[in-house]
Amino acid sequence: MQIIIDGRKVPINPKVSKDLLLTLRSIAKTQRWGTLYDTSHEIVYINTKNSKTPVPSADRPIISEDESESNRLAGKVICLDPGHGGNDPGAIGPTGTCEKDNNLAVALLLCDKLEKNGATVILTRDTDMEVKVADASSEAELGARVDIANDHGADIFISLHNDAFTNAQAAGTTTYHYGNADGIRLATSIQKSLIEGLGTKDRGARFASFYVIRYSNMPAVLVEAAFISNPEEEVLLASVDGRYNIADSIFRGIVKYFKV
Ligand SMILES: [Zn+2]
Repeated sequence: MQIIIDGRKVPINPKVSKDLLLTLRSIAKTQRWGTLYDTSHEIVYINTKNSKTPVPSADRPIISEDESESNRLAGKVICLDPGHGGNDPGAIGPTGTCEKDNNLAVALLLCDKLEKNGATVILTRDTDMEVKVADASSEAELGARVDIANDHGADIFISLHNDAFTNAQAAGTTTYHYGNADGIRLATSIQKSLIEGLGTKDRGARFASFYVIRYSNMPAVLVEAAFISNPEEEVLLASVDGRYNIADSIFRGIVKYFKV
């Protein structure tokens, strides 16, 4: 596979891999680069100057990677909330990986997948930052996240987190709801898909009174995808494949919830 950045060919030819493509797209999204993958020639074009799609040379037929997959989530507004960010790293794994980075990576992958299926996605943050201001009180920070979901009239709200515990053996996936019928149904659907997709221990869809799911006006869940304090699950949370599987599993849970 060739990589061409701002018209200049990168002097490496890595093997085509989904990992590499997803990584490049994830970086491009946070940096607001334009990217284009010419599948027939296995060339990735990157435009770092602005987010406009790069224009490759005229003799190459281009297939955009951003083609839609379906329209089944058309009309749905989905708010994704990558937990923590900026000065708040969230929990930190045994090798030093940060929860805030895992949450953001999954949110960006999930956003892409949802948009390709027609949904309108609102991200409470799309980069490594606080949503309110740096070092705001935790209530002000969480309130700012809820306000974004409420102000956009989102149909559902999904907060993304990693679990952590002092005992490194603790493991598994939990999806929390705030007890209303649609919230329970959303949590149950996402939890089931995550367990199927990740093969992690099923800690269940459970009630909790977390701020972001308590004060949001729509069915809302908080996903603890796995334990960052567990060495094996840290790898799942921080690897490109693991993040892709988490995003894909949550996507399938959302589709089942909407019955589309
Ligand atoms: Zn968290």
